[in-house]
Amino acid sequence: MLHELKITTRPNRCLPDKSPAQSSTFRSMILMAFLLASLGSLSACQYVGQRCKFCGSSLSAGKVHTPEGYIVCNECNLSAVRDLRTARALVAQVRSEIAKLGVRLPWGNIKIKMGPTGQKEAYARCEALRYANGTVGALWIIFVPGLPKDMFKGTAAHELTHAWAYLNRCPMNQDQALAEGGPTLVEYTYLGLKKTVYGEYRRKTIMTSNDRIYGKGTRRLQAYAKDHGGLGAALTLLKTAERIPDGY
Ligand SMILES: [Zn+2]
Ligand SMILES: [Zn+2]
Repeated sequence: MLHELKITTRPNRCLPDKSPAQSSTFRSMILMAFLLASLGSLSACQYVGQRCKFCGSSLSAGKVHTPEGYIVCNECNLSAVRDLRTARALVAQVRSEIAKLGVRLPWGNIKIKMGPTGQKEAYARCEALRYANGTVGALWIIFVPGLPKDMFKGTAAHELTHAWAYLNRCPMNQDQALAEGGPTLVEYTYLGLKKTVYGEYRRKTIMTSNDRIYGKGTRRLQAYAKDHGGLGAALTLLKTAERIPDGY
């Protein structure tokens, strides 16, 4: 019955939008504007400090304003995923790759959509219709268009892990640090399998973020996994527990 259904959604926030790095970039921009105003001849330095929205690379060699409104490096623009066919193929690839990490989805075809996620800082979202007893009636993943390929793949690993948790009937009232820490730890592990500029940048961000959920939650779960035999232990917790045990 319809009233028994509950929509469960998990956005993949790309960590705090107002990061210390960005505010220091802002400060250095103000400083740079001051220097330019006072010295006049340093216009060649106007890009100093500006970084690619997605991979963090310097934009001194050139930048692109994407149709989606992001300011990114050439590489991130060239590999941007904007069509459903590419998105579906990449999700299928990531799905088989994370199966080797222990995330095997007991489900057929997973519906992929492209469009706004309804939240400014959310680049993707996994949504599930779940019955009161936790079983899944329907499941889909939405990606915003324009994510560079490596970011799309890392994000897919994250969202597929949410899907995996739902399909394994994870607790409905799970603490956010566990509900998001688990998928972010899989994303972190997945991005570590093959080194890319984006992957290294994102992994470093996850390991240094002060965000209670996406940063600290992931690191607490990582510490738990280390003490309990690896990623599999973290996945068991994600599937069955309401929270990360005290002491982590
Ligand atoms: Zn998430
Ligand atoms: Zn980039």
